[in-house]
Order: sequence, then C-alpha cells, then structure tokens
Amino acid sequence: MPESAAQWHARVTSVLASDGPREVPWTSWPTWPFLESEFTARPLEPLGDEQPRRGAGGVECEQCDRSDDPSYIFWRDELMMLGAPFEPTSLPFVAFLMPRRHCDLSDLTPDESARLGQLLVAVERAACEVLDIPRVQVFRFGDGAEHLHWWLQARPTGANQLRGTFLSLWDDVLPAREAGARLADLSAVAARLVELAGGSVPDPPE
Ligand SMILES: [Zn+2]
Repeated sequence: MPESAAQWHARVTSVLASDGPREVPWTSWPTWPFLESEFTARPLEPLGDEQPRRGAGGVECEQCDRSDDPSYIFWRDELMMLGAPFEPTSLPFVAFLMPRRHCDLSDLTPDESARLGQLLVAVERAACEVLDIPRVQVFRFGDGAEHLHWWLQARPTGANQLRGTFLSLWDDVLPAREAGARLADLSAVAARLVELAGGSVPDPPE
C-alpha cells in the first residue's frame, strides 16, 4: 500500500523535529544565482485542502480568453498552441506549449497526446536552429492554472552559469527583454516550426 499524504506528513514532520531539514548543496553550485548563501528552510505546514487553480473548469481562464491575442499566441494548429509568458522574461526563449482546448494533462485525447509529443521534438529543433541556444528545458508544474501549459525555456549558448535547476530563477533575476524583440524572436521560431511540423503563425499585433 503506497504511503498516504497523512502518513507522509507524519513521517516527515517527525524526522524534521529530530534531525531538522536535510543539508542542501545548492549555494555551493556555480549555477546558484545569489551571493547570499545563508538561508533557513521554512517549517513544514500541516496538510490542507487542495487550492483551486486559476481558470478551473474553463471559467475566467486566461489561456482560453487570450487564445486569439497575437501578443500572446505566436503559433497554433488545430490542437495545440504556443504562447509567450504574460510576464517579462530575460532568456532568449521562454514559451508555453498548450492544448487549444481547455483541459489538463490527463484529459488529452490520443490525437492531442500524439501531437504534443511531436511538437515537443519539433519546437526544440526549430528553436535551436533559429536561436543561439543549445537546447530547450521542458517542464510542467500544473499547480497555478488548470489549463495545461508546458514551460519551454532556454539559455544562451555558453551561458554555463545558467545550466540546470535554477534557469527559471535566473530568468526572473536578469533584466527583461523588450516585448517587441522577444515576440519577433518567437515568431521566427514559429515560422521554422511551420516548416517542420505545420500549423500557422498568427498575424502580428497592430
Ligand atoms: Zn483554458
């Protein structure tokens, strides 16, 4: 029988009380973005009710509501779309791969699942051909908004300090790019993606 959430919480709380949190090596990693290296883990809070996610049930979902906004969506086909983050970014490539339909990962149809897999491959190919990046990081948290969105982000080639775990923190720390330049690069990646995997690039914003 797998450990329940309550069992996990009881065991971890007990060990925290006796041994404290585990030592983490992050601050000695060359990729750690901060000079300050002294920090203390927060106490573990009790289990609570799961928090509702933004856009739950497709109500007031930003991804759905802005799916025709050319300053947000820079590539689409019948099943999937690529969007730019709402917030400013500093890395050469930060985008979201999302289904057109409001759904989460386990809701994808076989056709949507297959297309998603093809696009994860094709977007990396397109982005690495067009931009000066070595590869694309891919991850999905799913805790903020219900509408499925894969994070795709990449560092400049040779920016070895940005490798790995902390890339998204570096994206928040470094100066943001101008929005028009960012969208122009995303549109160039989208144009190559159309050649590699179909779909279309929406007309740019006025
Ligand atoms: Zn949605």
